[in-house]
Amino acid sequence: MNTLHRKFIFATLIILFFSIILAFILANIVYMSAIKQKIDQENVILAEEIASTLENMHSSPSAFTPYLQSIGELGYQFYVLNMDGEVAFYGHPFNKTDIPPEAIKVLVNKEIYHGMNNYAQQFLMMGHFSNDVRNTVGVPFTINDQSYGLFLRQNNKLLFSDIHIILVCFVITVAVVAISGVIWFVKYLIQPITKLTEATKEVSRENFNYPLQIKRNDEIGLLIKGFNKMQNQLQQNDEVRKTFINNVSHDFQSPLMNIQGYAELIRANELTESERNDYLEIIDHESKRLSNLTKQLLLLTSLDQKNYPMKYTKVNIADQIKQTIRRYQWLLEEKEIDILHKLSSITIMADAELLINVWDNLLTNAIKYNVQRGTITINVSSKDSFLYITVEDTGIGMKKEEVSQIFERFYRVDSARKKGGTGLGLSIAKQIIDLHHGTINVKSQIGQGTTFMISLPLE
Ligand code: ADP
Repeated sequence: MNTLHRKFIFATLIILFFSIILAFILANIVYMSAIKQKIDQENVILAEEIASTLENMHSSPSAFTPYLQSIGELGYQFYVLNMDGEVAFYGHPFNKTDIPPEAIKVLVNKEIYHGMNNYAQQFLMMGHFSNDVRNTVGVPFTINDQSYGLFLRQNNKLLFSDIHIILVCFVITVAVVAISGVIWFVKYLIQPITKLTEATKEVSRENFNYPLQIKRNDEIGLLIKGFNKMQNQLQQNDEVRKTFINNVSHDFQSPLMNIQGYAELIRANELTESERNDYLEIIDHESKRLSNLTKQLLLLTSLDQKNYPMKYTKVNIADQIKQTIRRYQWLLEEKEIDILHKLSSITIMADAELLINVWDNLLTNAIKYNVQRGTITINVSSKDSFLYITVEDTGIGMKKEEVSQIFERFYRVDSARKKGGTGLGLSIAKQIIDLHHGTINVKSQIGQGTTFMISLPLE
């Protein structure tokens, strides 16, 4: 039995114990303050009625014996005393027969004896069941000028009637059923927690395939649901991490192999000047690719932090785009690409350094995947509380299924692989736009061109 299980049962027993103590104290308070006196008075009335019957109906003391005996059969105990000191008992015998001194006053002063009300020898209401002559009520009566004292109490058999036995059975049954119920309920409550503990151990061993099949509509059900969701997320993260490491190693491996191969060729062979230049250019290109990949990975890792420290300043988007175009003027001229732009001068609060990466990526892609003598159109405008930027090219375009994947890390459309891309630029761009609470969407048609649409909140 685990600890929580034991604690629950222990707590139930403690509660039961204290509720019994409390109920006992409460019952005693009620008994001592009201019931005791009432019982005493009721018995006095009964004793007086019996005494008056004895006085009226019986002329000699020997005659009342059968009468008191028959009442004794009904569940009463009697103790009769006269002035000569003669005593007689009727009904169930008393355990204690010491005559209380107050009993004499019943004979001498004709006073009523309230033994039941004043009986204080026994602890609280348990005294009510004491089979003692002192725990009686006493009344005087006279037959043939002889004074008697009649002392009476109900015997314990009468006090514990059948209904009391039924009540005790009832209380015991309730207690037993309640305790068994608690034991069962605790088991039902703890079982999923035990399973959850097992599952957590599995997850800590990187086994993410341990779904808990427990359907419940309570807090534990929610906990299990949350756990399964977390497990799914961890599994996905694990897969992403593995794919990421795979991609990174592959992307580092191939340029490194090229550099190594061409360096060996240069060292080993007698080469013409133009061949040597070609190989050196490849080495230069591959090392730049490696450097670019490292920079992008570093940026991506820092963007992955939950609380990336954004450096907000006033940024003029049109100025930033113009700067980027200027930077790639040589590439545009090399590919004879026409660039058209309509750039409204709008300032927003943004992280300037991050946004530059977005324009850089969109423009270089629009050049890289454009056709010779193609066109690139860039627009910056604002409407309502948003700034809209579109970058449109007349390049090779993409298929629908390719478009849906271009924001994934390392995704490259096959044709792009030859162009030496890393497949990281757009995922970085999306992450940057997300950090600015904006959106980025794509429209593309194969052979027609591609349009990237960005919206950024002005505030
Ligand atoms: P890359 O470094 O490969 O360009 P990106 O993340 O910037 O990485 O782009 C992902 C892929 O999306 C590219 O490999 C390319 O296939 C496709 N792509 C991006 N921009 C365009 C575009 N303007 N026209 C056609 N395809 C594009």
